[in-house]
Amino acid sequence: MKYCKSCLTTNLRPNSSFKDGICIACHYSDSQAISSSSLKLKILQEKIKSSRQKQRNKGAYDCIVGVSGGKDSTRQAHWVRDRLGLRPLLICCAYPPKQMTEVGANNLSNLIKMGFDMITATPAPKSAAKLALESFKLFGNVCKSTEMSLFSTVPRLAIELGVNTIFWGENPALQVGDAAVEGFDEFDGNNLRKLNTLTAGGTEWINSALKHDYLVEHYLYPEEILFDKKDINIFYLGPAWDDWSNDDNSTYAALEGLTLRPGEENITGDLSNASMLDEEFTNINMMLKYYKFGFGRATDTVNEKIRSQHITREQGIEIVERYDGVCDDSIIQSYSKYVDITETEFWNIANKWVNKNIFTIKKGQRPIRKFTVGTDYGC
Ligand SMILES: [Zn+2]
Repeated sequence: MKYCKSCLTTNLRPNSSFKDGICIACHYSDSQAISSSSLKLKILQEKIKSSRQKQRNKGAYDCIVGVSGGKDSTRQAHWVRDRLGLRPLLICCAYPPKQMTEVGANNLSNLIKMGFDMITATPAPKSAAKLALESFKLFGNVCKSTEMSLFSTVPRLAIELGVNTIFWGENPALQVGDAAVEGFDEFDGNNLRKLNTLTAGGTEWINSALKHDYLVEHYLYPEEILFDKKDINIFYLGPAWDDWSNDDNSTYAALEGLTLRPGEENITGDLSNASMLDEEFTNINMMLKYYKFGFGRATDTVNEKIRSQHITREQGIEIVERYDGVCDDSIIQSYSKYVDITETEFWNIANKWVNKNIFTIKKGQRPIRKFTVGTDYGC
């Protein structure tokens, strides 16, 4: 396992790409320092204008913003309406009731109270629970099906409604270093379909788990040919936005009435108290990611702060040592209950996905780390 020399990304991250020992997110962040965000805003506005000219339905909405009950949604919705001067329709793929948190539901209500129109689509609860278990067994990922439905619902409804301009917040290629989704330029989100979570493992497993096509459709990302036919364009807002970061977004959103989850970092492992507000199980995934690839959510949070020079790499290492992989037993119990397995069964499945080169496994227990954060291991 090799670390980026500048941040704490490892080469085990799916679709990672290193040049001269530095990851693509760090390379991008360096090039950012010399480019102007107002110029970028102009470029983005030109792109939006040309995209909107091709819109079929010239009705009530100019564009679609994909939202959840989280911090980025609140900020994006406001930015699109107030800064870009557009009339957005918000589309939300909500969690089934047993998965969604009270905080998440309140935050969605808060967006509606702010005067936005919103369409929510929720998967059939039994199918959702079944796929949450299948995802875990087949891919060591308790959220794969949930993520597939989140990413697919927005373009699927955009195509149906005839509104062709879609906004997402962050560009995963630039923010976390997923090279597969790199587009024509930093705003181009049309390669979002290549995101690891959408492509790995195909979709056949969903068909066999659910049987009926009408249940399956909710999880399938629309084909490229449909994007072309309907002139669908996805744009990332992050690059045109000089203070787009997890910290800035949560501060802004909290001021606009978003409910955060302070003081829970020893339970959820979430240092921002602001990510994954709308459901709990993503915390398990962050833990599993750590066991599979040697880095978790604390690493992603810390990397952003290292790149913006808020902390040093050494300070980052201390934080990551403490918080990567944290996920309280209570969350694991609640997931196990949701998908109807015991906790022992949970750990038996989880342990199959642990990278044994960097962790030691003990039956029925949490894996133990062999490596030191920030130092190349086994190479
Ligand atoms: Zn890096």
